[in-house]
Amino acid sequence: MSDFGKVYLIGAGPGDPGLFTLRGKAILERADVVVYDRLVSPSILAFCNDNAQMVDVGKMPTHHKVKQSEINKLLVKFAKEMPCAVIARLKGGDPFVFGRGGEEALELVEAGVEFEVVPGVTSAISVPAYAGIPVSHRGIATSFHIITGHEKEEVRGSRPEEIKVESDAECHPEQTLQSISCHPEQTLQSISCHPEQALQSISCHPEQAQRVEGSSIAGLDFPALAKCPGTLIFLMGISNMQMIARRLMECGKDPKTPLAFIEKGTTPYQRTVTCTLETAAETIVRENVVAPAITIMGGVVELGDKLAWRKNLPLSGKRLVVTRAAKQASGISAKLTALGAEVIETPMIETRSVEPRVDTCHPEQARRSLSCHPEQAQRSLSCHPEQAQRSLSCHPERSTKCEVEGSGIANFADLANFDVLAFTSTNGVESFFDAFFKAGLDIRALADKKIASVGKITEKKLLERGLHCDFVPEDHTGEGLGKLLAKIAQSSNLEPGASTLLLQGNLADDTLTTLLPKVTRWVVYETLPAKTLPDWKREAVAAADAVVFASSSAVENFAKVIQYGSVESHAELDSASASPCLEPQAPCPAPRTCFSIGRMTTATAKKYGFDVIESDETTMDSLVKKIAEYYA
Ligand code: SAH
Repeated sequence: MSDFGKVYLIGAGPGDPGLFTLRGKAILERADVVVYDRLVSPSILAFCNDNAQMVDVGKMPTHHKVKQSEINKLLVKFAKEMPCAVIARLKGGDPFVFGRGGEEALELVEAGVEFEVVPGVTSAISVPAYAGIPVSHRGIATSFHIITGHEKEEVRGSRPEEIKVESDAECHPEQTLQSISCHPEQTLQSISCHPEQALQSISCHPEQAQRVEGSSIAGLDFPALAKCPGTLIFLMGISNMQMIARRLMECGKDPKTPLAFIEKGTTPYQRTVTCTLETAAETIVRENVVAPAITIMGGVVELGDKLAWRKNLPLSGKRLVVTRAAKQASGISAKLTALGAEVIETPMIETRSVEPRVDTCHPEQARRSLSCHPEQAQRSLSCHPEQAQRSLSCHPERSTKCEVEGSGIANFADLANFDVLAFTSTNGVESFFDAFFKAGLDIRALADKKIASVGKITEKKLLERGLHCDFVPEDHTGEGLGKLLAKIAQSSNLEPGASTLLLQGNLADDTLTTLLPKVTRWVVYETLPAKTLPDWKREAVAAADAVVFASSSAVENFAKVIQYGSVESHAELDSASASPCLEPQAPCPAPRTCFSIGRMTTATAKKYGFDVIESDETTMDSLVKKIAEYYA
């Protein structure tokens, strides 16, 4: 083992983050540096840890790409300068399928830098699969061939160093193709008038030859390819397709061979354009086929008519920003992804459990506070006196935090004082029970409590903990719960004056406390604003179709982050208008359409100028249903 950092050449797959490997994800999560290409999906970059140094080699500040030779050097430099570091080199598809991963690996070997290859799902096979085209099919194609339509080559009769073509398409297909795609007609014209000439010109005038797109496929064995009965799959072939199609037909390939271009496969913007070999070139121009795209030829293409499964998904083609806290986002993200959307997880809030208060200094007090309901107290504590003791003895410094009137942090010694435990979020349930079990208590300590939940999801979470809810309002809001509990407190269901304990976050409003006669609030979790939006995420957000909000605070933070670049800088601006040197970052363009989970969230979103579509119920399922209906 050397003292250098280790480089991982990781295949990011074709675009859909669901096709990224578990191994790749595990490395990204602990990577110190991530050197990534332009084609890598933002949802995959989201796996990187917040402290990773992100290096975009698909784009420089000046919008010039980084040359392959520079990328090689960069990897070696990082490895040498950062002993023991994990350096992730993230590339589209598979690193060894026309990905120049081999060249990077050779450079690392030469420099004595340790490396590993994490294969990726190649676009050559997965992109057709997402278009419903199997690359092989019994009775139609017994082989398939993956061919580059844009090869870095050494031209006959020239010195290699003179004709070294640093092919854009090979390193950064999207960029290259972007630059080509602005003028596809022009490009094709320049190829189409003199393909033969172009080939001739390669052998004598390498510099000129570089300008002619057709030059870069001169090395292909067209007679062999034309004879090949299997499926032909061209990567990076769009700009050269006129020449490729023509040469194949000249060499005997049937002009009626079915052909498909699949653009931006597996992403929300996937598009399939079909034609035949003889109409390929004109189809590219007419349909404005742009990169990245693969070209697939052969009888299997026709199966795509019947098997195209993805484009029929209701959210296919949609990119949605999900602003839930990272731990909670996966549920809704998975549902939206299953409906065909690409989800950009951009958590605007993070939640953190608040440690319970522990009364080391005042054991007497603790005992006294139990004495109002001796029987209850006995029941809740008697089985586990030691445990109870333990819960009273560890974190004195916490006891002074979060003390606001009517609310405070949990103190399990007081639990016996309450008749009803009311939960207003799944976070509340999780944080309460984290602390509860950590304190050495178990579910029997809640045997005599009535349990109330604000809605069905929270109710489900409680059931997972072994607790049935006694009270769930029809109107799944804090107000609904407050009214229900107030009503019940007056009826025979509860002793008059029964005391309610609210388990909430630090940002919970007063709705419940004002509606209930005898209520205490324990702050069991804190909500912290997300800090910044990294550049790559700003781009993803700008390109999204809509934002999904599940809370008012997420709207507030999102609005601040996109307007000012970071919540912190916004806060500084608010409080330090006297400080002219505090320049906000440029505002981040963001979609104006948003989906909201409930009334409060909607009101906040409207305040910030969003066009809001609100779910019928305040549940994630209802929200997802609304999104699907909206785009149907
Ligand atoms: N290593 C990559 C290929 C790199 S070459 C892999 O294994 O997939 C880049 C070419 O791959 C592009 O020009 C295009 O032809 C193809 N490609 C990559 N991603 C694609 C996508 N999402 N949709 C269509 N083609 C794609």
